[in-house]
Amino acid sequence: MPILKIEQVDIYKMYIPLHEPFVISLGKIENAENIIVVIRTNNGITGFGECSPYLSINGESIDTCFIVGQYLAKALKGQDPIDIKECSRRMNSTIFGNNSIKSAFDMALYDIASQYAGLPLYEFLGGKNDRSLFTDMTVSIGEPEKMAADALKYKDAGFTAIKVKLGQSKEEDVERIRQIRLAIGNDIPLRIDANQGWKVKTAIEILQALEEFKIQHCEEPIARWKFMKLKKVKDNSPIPIMADETCCDHHDAERLINLEACDSINIKLGKSGGLYNAKKIVEQADKIEMPMQVGGFMESRLGMTASAHLSLSSPNIHYCDFDTPLMFTADPVKGGIIYLPNGEVKTPVEPGLGASIDEAWLQKMEKVTI
Ligand SMILES: [Mg+2]
Repeated sequence: MPILKIEQVDIYKMYIPLHEPFVISLGKIENAENIIVVIRTNNGITGFGECSPYLSINGESIDTCFIVGQYLAKALKGQDPIDIKECSRRMNSTIFGNNSIKSAFDMALYDIASQYAGLPLYEFLGGKNDRSLFTDMTVSIGEPEKMAADALKYKDAGFTAIKVKLGQSKEEDVERIRQIRLAIGNDIPLRIDANQGWKVKTAIEILQALEEFKIQHCEEPIARWKFMKLKKVKDNSPIPIMADETCCDHHDAERLINLEACDSINIKLGKSGGLYNAKKIVEQADKIEMPMQVGGFMESRLGMTASAHLSLSSPNIHYCDFDTPLMFTADPVKGGIIYLPNGEVKTPVEPGLGASIDEAWLQKMEKVTI
């Protein structure tokens, strides 16, 4: 008989307005529309998880997650939360895909398992809190002047790397980077993300035209379904190519690595289905010392805390993209990662995830209990 048992699952809808719309080539976001999953066990340990579904990336919304989450909760009720392999198997046999909502459950299970083990989550994942994590800060796609002003604002605030959303025409995108570099100078690392916005030929032209601007890497230059062409882009690009939307889970990572289609991988728990699969991506990348980034969708500090723990699990995770909580007009999270003004991220050291949602906030949210 297992010692621990899942007794109750609460699923909440959490809406938080952003200071200003976040705009990428796939569309505009004005509010974080996230799901919080709270798993309660028979011995009093409670686990928290979060996901931030994105319709055009993982095909899920806050409403689909709220419904599918109820299927998953029913499949997990009565199970041993420490047996994450079996819990994952149950979730996957309940419904295909839906990795965003699965990641919220996975996060809550890891919170429980690491609390039970008496270890901070990074240590439970095999990592050490022996280095500093720094998040970049992202500039939304828009008019070049506004983007340059935003980039300068973030540089002046102390951030150590700036990420820029691109993915439109060659003229517009090159002009954006030209004006940004003019504003911020050449010393601060600049990363770009086209969010699948370019055609293969245009991607190569743009990446070559951007060579002089010292770009650290480019995320997802072309449509995700054109992954067979990604190697061609990579081979012709002076800028390293990072797979993002193309690489959801460990199966995608294996395929991209075998195809030699990218120089690096961006891991997001909402794409992989959570930490269980993310660890498998990390294992594969570690074998060939491929650099990784850990990023997110529009999670609060709760979800980003899990991402920070994951980032400490491998020395090959070089980049963190945890800036979305800094765009929120409110912060419902208790505990969790702390941001220093220069973008340095401090990860909690107590057992478990080390983050939860404030009880007063939980009481205001639409909720279903299984
Ligand atoms: Mg990206």
